[in-house]
Amino acid sequence: MPDPNELTVLDPATEEIVATVPAATAGDVDTAVARAARAQTRWAAVAPADRARLLRRFADVVDAHTEELAQLEVREAGHTVANARWEAGNARDLLLYAAGGAERLTGRQIPVPGGWDVTFQEPLGVVGVIAPWNFPMPIAAWGSFPALAAGNAVLLKPAETTPLTALRLAGLALEAGLPEHLFQVLPGHGDTAGRALVDHPDVAKIVFTGSTRTGREVMERCARLVKPVTLELGGKSPNVVFADADLQAALDPFSFLDNAGQDCCARTRVLVQETVLDEARALLADALAAVVVGDPADERTQMGPLISGRQRERVRSYVPDDAPALRGKAPDGPGFWFPPTVLTGERHDSPAAREEIFGPVAVLLPFTDEQDAIRLANDTPYGLSGSIWTRDLGRALRVSQAVRAGNLSVNSHSSVRYWTPFGGYKQSGLGRELGPDALAAFTQTKNVFLSTEVPAP
Ligand code: NDP
Repeated sequence: MPDPNELTVLDPATEEIVATVPAATAGDVDTAVARAARAQTRWAAVAPADRARLLRRFADVVDAHTEELAQLEVREAGHTVANARWEAGNARDLLLYAAGGAERLTGRQIPVPGGWDVTFQEPLGVVGVIAPWNFPMPIAAWGSFPALAAGNAVLLKPAETTPLTALRLAGLALEAGLPEHLFQVLPGHGDTAGRALVDHPDVAKIVFTGSTRTGREVMERCARLVKPVTLELGGKSPNVVFADADLQAALDPFSFLDNAGQDCCARTRVLVQETVLDEARALLADALAAVVVGDPADERTQMGPLISGRQRERVRSYVPDDAPALRGKAPDGPGFWFPPTVLTGERHDSPAAREEIFGPVAVLLPFTDEQDAIRLANDTPYGLSGSIWTRDLGRALRVSQAVRAGNLSVNSHSSVRYWTPFGGYKQSGLGRELGPDALAAFTQTKNVFLSTEVPAP
């Protein structure tokens, strides 16, 4: 029975204990909110250029600790070391981008009769960020750094399995000179610390990333307090491959194996035009066989373990031993390993083809023509991302306009850049993170009218 007062962080590649961390209680959340509110009042009064200067110093400190942060992410989340270094760099880059945003955040002047009308973009106050375990460091950064830049304080609750990089980032913020209590991390359980943050009347906004089920609960609870939310939820993204595409590039298995498939943008529905289905199957079989799965700290490793035994059981439930599938290799235990897998005998409406599995498992499905591809791509409650592969520009434009998802790429599998907006359609979420409007999502507009028709005294 897990101790409710403590979090045990396991290395998913070895199942060894990496650390134990005290779990925040609802009382701890109360204390943290009160401190954060005081820190925020002072922070909001700091000139934007000075806020930006401090955030740039924070970026420098993160940069100097890239390797330490990356190694922590490898240990607590099982990310390959190459990916983990990219993630630390992403946190640094986002800090620099957000710092520039702080300097550019302005209101407007609107012509009105009888006076001047001006708007101010004011910070919200204390923002709660609830992060999942799949990308502990980037998602902590995406929710927190633009909020800080816009003049808010942040309370970050990481997932109970992965609190270490978040805690280290908060320590580095202090080293960089950010005010005490402005950016606090509350490691804890979702149903205690997470709920306390959501329900707290002095937390002005919640940014939640995780499952659609928990996101729905967070939104319902926020509704009681009319508290705004940003939700980044699940996905079941299509990879639409037309017969004229560069098949080798289109069928890159890391479009669904990156982070062992624990990626909300993973292209797990591989939709291939039926005329090239056999060729696609052969390419995928070769590609899966070549994937190097193993110790994530080894520079040669391409795919690490799943986060936990629980997650592995969940993934396994979608892949019966006798299911028709292409399979790669994975180490035996210890460690939460699962082989790269493409299910080849699914219907598009079967659970494996509809539900977010969150493991290294995709389904291969044929389509006939453009209309059929669009119909299948959209036949999902999700709408986060997707790829479209074709050399026909007109078709690329038509399909990218018809697919209902927040982040599409044509002849590419990329989804996330810190300077472009990221977020989902349908049950994949609400609101956008990153990009030019990220700071605005952490402000509210105040309109002030100044009469010029004041009678002389
Ligand atoms: P959750 O959505 O339950 O967890 C995400 C975060 O929310 C964690 O920090 C969690 O804390 C917290 N949380 C849990 N319950 C509450 C609550 N009632 N109020 C406030 N915060 C809460 O995801 P799971 O870890 O349970 O993963 C289950 C499935 O969700 C995965 O298999 C995957 O399919 C999907 N998922 C999708 C993600 C995505 O980015 N799309 C990310 C993570 C999961 P705690 O860690 O203590 O539970």
